[in-house]
Amino acid sequence: MDRAIRMEYLRAIGIDAWVPRAGIRGMTTAQAVVEAATAVELAAAPSSTVSGGDGGWEALRTEIMSCTRCSLYAGRTQGVLGVGNPQADWMVIGEAPGAEEDRRGEPFVGRAGQLLDAMLRAIGLSRAENVYIANVLKSRPPNNRDPRPEEVAACLPYLRRQIELVRPRLLLAVGRIAAQNLLGTQESLGRLRGRVHRFGELNTPLVVTYHPAYLLRTPADKRKAWEDLKFARSVFRQLTAGSEDGHRS
Ligand code: URA
Repeated sequence: MDRAIRMEYLRAIGIDAWVPRAGIRGMTTAQAVVEAATAVELAAAPSSTVSGGDGGWEALRTEIMSCTRCSLYAGRTQGVLGVGNPQADWMVIGEAPGAEEDRRGEPFVGRAGQLLDAMLRAIGLSRAENVYIANVLKSRPPNNRDPRPEEVAACLPYLRRQIELVRPRLLLAVGRIAAQNLLGTQESLGRLRGRVHRFGELNTPLVVTYHPAYLLRTPADKRKAWEDLKFARSVFRQLTAGSEDGHRS
């Protein structure tokens, strides 16, 4: 594809924010464009999603759909389990379903979801292929308010089971709420970024970045989120160095 057309295409789908003007950490603009172009090619691929399945998934889905562990069940359309490859090496964890997710039963399908998909594509990932996406809460809080501690406590066992089923190599927590609840801390997102944390009994490595909804409101921070994604990718590469192809055997 001609470079000018490619750049126009990238801008049209909102990837331009991920192309540094003067290179990030030694990457030339050309290299960044190649990365983003790869993302465009992935974007053009047909999408299909996998949710549930066997090995405990169906039971988990049924449990979540009929869950009344907290009061949020009363106001939801449906529980939102997760989406993506149930054997993915990467797992993205957000906060809770919003209005669109509640209607469609899939995480991150609104505007924030579109930006999340673009962010993932920029590092060669997609929910159709190599990522599993879930939220801390499976039910939508009214008016998109923050999850309450008792709601998180009631719902976290579901996420733990999802993590046990997927067994990802790396967790990417998007946003302060997900990060703080997973890590059991009140530290600011700024302080949690750029470090490898660990989560759960499997001690799964966890990296933190901004929530895409925040980035829609604060586009100036997209550059920092891009640094986080590159950090996550380098952590992943280190974790899988020595495996045949970077994927589980
Ligand atoms: N925000 C989230 O944290 N999760 C979603 O699924 C949608 C928006």
